[in-house]
Amino acid sequence: MRPTQPRLHIGNYEGALRNWVDLQNKGFEMFCMVADWHALTTMFEETDQIGQNSIGVAKDFIAAGIDPDKSAIFVQSHVKEHAELHLLFSMVTPLGWLERTPTYKEKRDAMGGAEREPYGLLGYPVLQTSDILLYRPYGVPVGRDQAPHLEIGNDIGQRFNRLYGQDIFPTYKYLIPEDETRAKLPGLDMRKMSKSYDNCIYLADTADETAKKIKSAYTTPSKIKKDDPGIPESCAVCQYLKVYSPNWQTQWEEDRQGLRGCMMNKTECTEAINEYFRPMRELRASLDDNDVREILRQGAEKASAVASQTMIEVRKAMGLLA
Ligand code: AMP
Repeated sequence: MRPTQPRLHIGNYEGALRNWVDLQNKGFEMFCMVADWHALTTMFEETDQIGQNSIGVAKDFIAAGIDPDKSAIFVQSHVKEHAELHLLFSMVTPLGWLERTPTYKEKRDAMGGAEREPYGLLGYPVLQTSDILLYRPYGVPVGRDQAPHLEIGNDIGQRFNRLYGQDIFPTYKYLIPEDETRAKLPGLDMRKMSKSYDNCIYLADTADETAKKIKSAYTTPSKIKKDDPGIPESCAVCQYLKVYSPNWQTQWEEDRQGLRGCMMNKTECTEAINEYFRPMRELRASLDDNDVREILRQGAEKASAVASQTMIEVRKAMGLLA
């Protein structure tokens, strides 16, 4: 997760973090990273908040159920092996693979074209591959939008194995939520939930902030009167009901038949979201910055222990002088 802001939105939670907690609780060894170097690819001109944001994101991990005694919670820039593997992978990655990354051209154009585009933006998937393969994982739990980047990662790992005749890197799986609504959670305006669209509900929002946001959320445009039939598939409020309300099937059916109005949907949706996130919000508010710093320090130690072992094998495979 990139610390481009001090808190995560519930799309980050549904697409990725919820799975992280499930996997941890099933006994998987988890490496939960705050990707501060990745945040720099887009926010290199305004970095004053990035440190504090990293603490905020780590708080969200813990509030959601990541247990620092079971999982490593760490900041990318604290584990220098990420930079070293990135450099070595950058030598074996064909430029064409990177230029073909979906989203890359979009991001480059948004930054003012090739003259202003930082070198790091093109290399983003190489750094992400290093973040993943340093830990030689079984899988990477992410939202749907990350799938194209993860494909390049497996290609880079397998190319490395072939070039140096070693079987160092596994082919990892992408663990994307089966439910499409969670894999790509819509925002309040029905576009993908994203900070850049200003359409987010944050895990750390208060109950009142959540209520206010849901009030303004997008609903079926043709449903004007209470008894007009709704189309739950195209209504943001109904999408959230599906994720957070145990009675969503009845609520959807009633909406479809015009047996309930948007106000009722919004009230019940707000209650369901607030109910779901209340314990996380309370835990988050009780976390102390200095305790979180210590958790991140210990997490970096745990991550380094694994990452440094991988690097010994990588350097050896490439024939670098030990
Ligand atoms: P980001 O740092 O914003 O690129 O995203 C961090 C994680 O959240 C990635 O695994 C994304 O796939 C996931 N994610 C971001 N936005 C959404 C969304 N609207 N729905 C589901 N997952 C998302």
